[in-house]
Formats: sequence, C-alpha cells, structure tokens
Amino acid sequence: MKNVLITGAAGFLGSHLCDRFIKEGFYVIGMDNYITGDKRNLEHLSSNPSFEFIEHDVTKHISIDKKLDYILHFASPASPIDYLKIPIQTLKVGSLGTHNLLGLAKAKKARLLIASTSEVYGDPLVHPQTEDYYGNVNTIGPRGVYDEAKRFQESITMAYHRFHGLETRIVRIFNTYGPRMRLNDGRVIPAFMGQALRGEDLTVFGDGSQTRSFCYVDDQVEGIYKLLFSDYSYPVNIGNPAEISIKDFAKEIIKLTGTQQKIIYKNLPVDDPLQRQPDISLAKKILNWEPKVDRTEGMLKTFNFFKDLPEDELHKREHKDFSNHIKK
Ligand code: UDP
Repeated sequence: MKNVLITGAAGFLGSHLCDRFIKEGFYVIGMDNYITGDKRNLEHLSSNPSFEFIEHDVTKHISIDKKLDYILHFASPASPIDYLKIPIQTLKVGSLGTHNLLGLAKAKKARLLIASTSEVYGDPLVHPQTEDYYGNVNTIGPRGVYDEAKRFQESITMAYHRFHGLETRIVRIFNTYGPRMRLNDGRVIPAFMGQALRGEDLTVFGDGSQTRSFCYVDDQVEGIYKLLFSDYSYPVNIGNPAEISIKDFAKEIIKLTGTQQKIIYKNLPVDDPLQRQPDISLAKKILNWEPKVDRTEGMLKTFNFFKDLPEDELHKREHKDFSNHIKK
C-alpha cells in the first residue's frame, strides 16, 4: 500500500483529496492545524482504516515515522479575507512550511506536489493566463502575502528539484468551488449563496466587471491527481476556462436560488484582479485533462450543500476567529 501525506487535510480541497486518495487505495495521513480548516470536513473518515490524522502546524518541524510515497502540500489560508487577517501565518506556511515539506520529501524519497495558485499571476496583463506568463504582483499590497508566499513556494520547489533531484509537481489552481467551502470564508460563491439563503442583497464589489472562471471541485481533484502521476515538473494551470463577470455571476446566483433580493455594490478590495481565466492547453496536452462539470450543474450541487447546513450555521456572520493561533 502506498502512503500519502496531505497537508491542509481539513480544508476544502484537502478533504476532497483525502477522499480521492482513499478511494484509489492509498493510506492517507491528513495533517492540519485547523487555522482555516474545519474538523467536520474529515468526520466521515474518522473510523476509516485507510486514514489517520495528525494535528500539526507545518511551519514547525514535521516528523513522520511511516514511509511516505507522496506528499501533497495544501495547507494555506486561501481566501482573501483570511490572508488579510493572518498575513504572517500565510507567508510562513507558503515559505517555512514548504521548506519543511521539501526536507521531509527528500528524507523519505517521496514525490511532492505543491498547491500553487492563479494569484502568482497577480492582476494579470496577459489574458487568458498561460504558464509562461510571469505575472503582475504588487509585492507590498495586502494580497502580496499570499501571492509572494506562493511564488516563493514555486521557486524553492524548483530549487529542490534542480539541486537535489527531488521529484516535484506544481499545480496552479484557479478559483475552485463545491461542497465543504466555508460559508463565511468571504469568497464570492459562499458569500452570494449565504446571502441568497438568508434573504439578503448580494454584495458585488466594485462595478462587478471583474471576471473569474470557476472550476468544480471534482474536476480540480481529477486534474491534481493526473498531474501527480505525470512526469511533468513545471507548473500546470488547472481550472475551468468558462469566464464570467462577477455582476453576471450574481445574476446567475439570483436565478439559481430563486431569491427575491437585489444586487448592491460595495468598494472593490485593493489589488482585486480585474480578469482571470486559465489557459488550460498545457493540461489538455500533457494530462489529457479538461473540466467536465459545467457551472449550472456545479453551482446547483454547491447550493444544495449550503442549503442543508444547520440554520444557526447559516446565520453565523462573524468570520473565523484566529485568536488561538496568534501569539500576542
Ligand atoms: N466578490 C464580490 N462580492 C463578495 C465577495 C467577492 O463581488 O461578496 C468579488 C471579489 O471582489 C472578486 C471576486 O468576487 O473580484 C472573487 O473573489 P473571491 O474572494 O472569491 O476570490 P479571488 O478570486 O479574488 O481570490
């Protein structure tokens, strides 16, 4: 049996990856410090003999007795609201955390896949974004903590690959959605769906002309799985190229949810990228991968997940409390 360590296992993508690897016959070791993850995302695996969980902050030394064949590094805050509130942890998990995992992979002779992001392209001047575009990032802006941590993560991963011959993979993840997103994580899909379910107006930031391209979680997981088992060491975009403006997206959500509410406009956050769309030609070519779930189907599945949440959860307004994780 092959062993895989998944960091960020209690998060949205991490927990779906745990499910996928267990389904494929792996022994999965999940790791998370719950700073943005949620215990409930892994509850269904608690008595699964192919799963164990270690509560640990990957920015601290990691020791694992078992052999490891694969490591997937998915630990990181991923919502703009989260990384604005915990900027130093965001920088540390992408840099120090990645360094620890590279060292662990080297010691265990394991293959390491790191979760990078479309944010490495910043507010892109090239559209759609191809992997050979170097990006347009404001290093000192509020989003810089995430973008630069992820850019450093790519650099140190390539250095370990080139210098130590470590087997590494880099996935650049574009906006992904689905069940187990945190309702109050501030990202646009949970935000709009929560507002629709509570009977509130939908808050569009700026004039809503900025675009995003949303990928359903099952497609994302399939792309990541294929990339891990490919022999390609350079970054690969995984996302759904179906692009939509946020204003049109709000209208779609109103239609989908049947809410009577209207759209209201709020200030655009600093450095909010104006357009984002993955060019997935590379993934198509080398992984024979492309997304299969269209937005209508994916959004409906996601809405059903949010609709079934307990009533008190729906009305929990405050964002996650990080105070336990911040040393005063
Ligand atoms: N957004 C919005 N209303 C919200 C939350 C987000 O209009 O209540 C916008 C946000 O300004 C951005 C887009 O939706 O342009 C996607 O934001 P998200 O936080 O989901 O992630 P991003 O793609 O910016 O990392």
